[in-house]
Amino acid sequence: MKLEKTFLIALKLIGYLLLAPIFFLLDILRLGKNMRRMRFAVRSSLTCYNCRSKIPLVGMWKCNCGFQYTGHVLKPCSLCGHVAQIVRCPHCGVTLLL
Ligand SMILES: [Zn+2]
Ligand SMILES: [Zn+2]
Repeated sequence: MKLEKTFLIALKLIGYLLLAPIFFLLDILRLGKNMRRMRFAVRSSLTCYNCRSKIPLVGMWKCNCGFQYTGHVLKPCSLCGHVAQIVRCPHCGVTLLL
């Protein structure tokens, strides 16, 4: 009984050690994505890559859940907590990944 428990703990430990590099890599990727989004969070507009016009990041937004709010586009929705992933150029309609 005690041997089985020790074996299970050792097995879990080996599993964690094998998965640690994968989790570390995922954290690095997530950090890179968050750093990229943080650059947008402090800006009030973007330049559209298609028509070169300014895309405002502060204004009135509608979430997928239907909740409409004013403020920065990266502000989490008050109802569901979702944060916008894309923004659409009001001039040409092209969408940009945030
Ligand atoms: Zn929402
Ligand atoms: Zn555009």
